[in-house]
Order: sequence, then C-alpha cells, then structure tokens
Amino acid sequence: MADLDPTDLAAAARIAAEHLAGLGERPVWRPVPEAERAWLSGQELPERGRPLGELLEDARTRVLPYPMGNGHPRFFGWVNSPPNPAGVLVEPLAAALNPSCAGGDHAGPHLERAVVRWLAELVGFPHPPGGGLLTSGASMATVICLATARQRAALADGWDAREEGLSGRPPMVMYVTEEGHSCLHKAAQLLGLGSRQVRVVPVDGAYRMDVGALRVMVEEDLRAGLRPFCVAGSAGTVNSGAVDPLDEIADVAAEHGLWFHVDGAYGALGVLADGAAPHYAGLERADSLALDPHKWLGVPVGCGCALLRDPGAARAAFSLVPSYLIDENAGDLGWFSEYGPEQTRPFRALKTWATLSHLGRSGVERLVNHTTGLARTLAAMVEESGDFELLAPVTTSITAFRYRPRPDGLDALNRAIPGVVQARGNAFITGTRLGGRDALRACFLHPDTTERDLAVLLEEIRLAAKTL
Ligand SMILES: *Cc1c(COP(=O)(O)O)cnc(C)c1O
Repeated sequence: MADLDPTDLAAAARIAAEHLAGLGERPVWRPVPEAERAWLSGQELPERGRPLGELLEDARTRVLPYPMGNGHPRFFGWVNSPPNPAGVLVEPLAAALNPSCAGGDHAGPHLERAVVRWLAELVGFPHPPGGGLLTSGASMATVICLATARQRAALADGWDAREEGLSGRPPMVMYVTEEGHSCLHKAAQLLGLGSRQVRVVPVDGAYRMDVGALRVMVEEDLRAGLRPFCVAGSAGTVNSGAVDPLDEIADVAAEHGLWFHVDGAYGALGVLADGAAPHYAGLERADSLALDPHKWLGVPVGCGCALLRDPGAARAAFSLVPSYLIDENAGDLGWFSEYGPEQTRPFRALKTWATLSHLGRSGVERLVNHTTGLARTLAAMVEESGDFELLAPVTTSITAFRYRPRPDGLDALNRAIPGVVQARGNAFITGTRLGGRDALRACFLHPDTTERDLAVLLEEIRLAAKTL
C-alpha cells in the first residue's frame, strides 16, 4: 500500500476549506449538466490505478461544484443542515484510524459512550449506563427502538418474537399521527407488523396528536382482540415542526402498557430554545427516543442516535454473539453490536464528539435559538404580507405557509413553486401537503442564515410564481 503523502492530504483539506468558504457566492443549487451527469454515473472502472492528485482534481472540478445545497445559508429544504466545521475537520482522522465500533477496548466505543450520554443529557432524557447507540440515522434508530418494543411486548405475553416469528399471535398494533415520519411506517413494515396494524391517529388544528382519539382507538383495538404495543409521538414533525402532547401520550401509554417512542430526529434539541421546555414535557417519560446529530447539530451525515430507558430491552431484542465474536473482557454492557442490527460500525462518535465539543452546550443553545427565531420571524413576515398565508403555528425551526396572491388555484400554484425557486438558484425551498392543502415549508438549521435571507426567500417565491 502506497503511503499517504501529507501534501495530498493538505491539498484535500485546502479544497474542502475553499469549498466551504465560497458557498455563499455560488448558486444554492443547480442541476447537474448532462455531460457531467454522464461522467459521474457512466464512467468505467479504470484498468490501472490513478494517482491521488488526479483524483483530487476530479473531485474539485467535477464533484464539489454540484452540491445538494444544504451547506448554503439560503437552503431551507427538507431537514438538512450544513456540516459543522469541527465535524469536517476530524473526518479524515476517523478514516485514518478506521476502526469498527462494534465493540472492544479501543478509542471508538469508549468515545461513543460519552457522546450518547451527552446527547441524552442535552435533551433531558434519562441515561442509564449503556442507554443508547449511534446509528446511520433516525430511520435505523427507529428500527432498533420498535424491534425492542416488539420483543418486549412478546416477552411480556410469554413468548419470544425472535424465536417464533409473529404468525399465529394477535396482531401487534402501533399508533402514529398522519404527521408521523415515514420511517415509522417503514420500520413497522420491515418488522413484519404490517401497515394495516399502524393506526393513524387524528391531529388537532396545530397538527399535534389528538390524545383523546388515541385513547378511543387503543380501547377499540383491545376489545377487538388485537395487541396494542406501541405509540410513537413526534418531537418536531417534518411538515410543520409540531411537537405532540408528549406528557398526555405518556399517560395513555402507562395506562395500557404501551411502549412510548418519541421521534425527535429533527426536533428533540428544540427543547433547548428559550421558553420551549413546556412543549416537550413528557419527553423524559419515553421508553425510547430517536435523535439525529446529523440534523440540527450539523454533524456530517450520517449520524443518528437511539436512546433507550432500558438498554437491556434492546440487548434482548438484538444480542446474538457467535463464537468468533465472544469477548471475555466486554464488561457488563457488552458490545454495541448487541444492541442493533449492525456488526461492523463506523466511527460516528468522533465527528459527533468534535461537533458537540466545539459548540459546547451554550453553542447548541445559541444555534437552536437563532434558527427557531428565524422561523418565527418568517411567520411574522408571512402574516404581515398581503399575499402569503401561515398554515401552522411555529414551535421549532420550521415555518409552514403558502403563497396566496389570488383566491383560487392555490394548490397547483404552490405545488409548482419549489421547483422554480430551486432552479433560480437564489434560495432552496421544498413543498408538502398539510391539512389537505399544498404548502411550502422552510426549515432553518444554518447558523449563518440572516433575516435578510428570509426577505430574499419571499421575493424569490413571488418571482417564481410570476412565471407560472
Ligand atoms: C430525518 C427524519 C427522520 C429520518 O431520519 P434519517 O436520519 O433520515 O434516517 C425521521 N423523523 C424525522 C422527524 C426526521 O426529520
């Protein structure tokens, strides 16, 4: 293996830094030109290896110019953040060390223990030793939490879902709102629960779970001989940033012995915004919480986290240690790979540790306050304008609204606006459907976004609509 020349590594670092420094001056996003797309996707594997310097030049000229856009301060689409500089800085070090963080006595697994504890402490979730693990994202964290809930319900009923599978047992039923993330449905499908057993609980006018309706649905399912086992609340939905009434959901869960899962992938950190804590009351009562460091914190993609009140329950759902992996020195907690489906696990803790250490608690609070403030400011601008309409209250850092320059044809208009705005390159916004209407939504995660950028966004929407 050829040595890595420090000048090549330094050149890569310079390219990365120049990319980040120049982002603000370039379009937020632009389509990949046909020739470049053909090169990116159609190239042949070279017969003979190419020198590192050449690869860097390709990356600089043919990869970095076509970003998704999320590094730019006027990117407001979906829930995608710019990378925290500390996270970027340590990525080559994680690759150089290149451990598998399945477990063992090396830096990676030890650092992961600290990072998971920090995340739990930040959002006020209980943290017993071993109470969580880093994942590829919240989708995988959700699979882990729901598989754990499924096995706990089976064991409570005197059988073992891992051993027997689900057939011949009363169907297990789970409850989410229509605003719940698709990853909850995917996990239920993957775990063999079946979409038909995922009940969609209605929401109130603020897109929060109607807990009275939840209670009625659980009671009906019990009467029908089904096995309600889990309710999933949201701490920050993607559509509008809504936070479900977690404390009331926890009451229903406690009454009926349901596993209480909270999807805080995007929004759990919103609890740190000034005055926000009452919205999150009850989060600390959940059995499990999914939280994505690669969302609001800006840890480079991908890093999610599953937090568990009873880590032993996850171990009961996943631990399967073949003879070639038995580690006599693993200690009481064993290996991370006993708590989820992944065996070889990347060193996600380093970039998360670096990001959290660099921000500190006060830095995270500043970021959350800045971005939630932007969402409220945009909401106020929308309400003061004569031609926009606010579609949901702002609880986190997402503003859901629509353009209303005339009384009708608004669904088609708002459905078409994001594509035109994106193509203009001055701002990036995405759409959704909310309460049966086509909506625009802006999500704020970038520390450098300013109020001036909000005015640009509204103007870009007006200009885009003129062409439609
Ligand atoms: C992003 C997100 C998810 C899915 O997480 P991934 O990290 O994309 O796997 C789930 N729920 C919410 C609210 C999200 O924002």
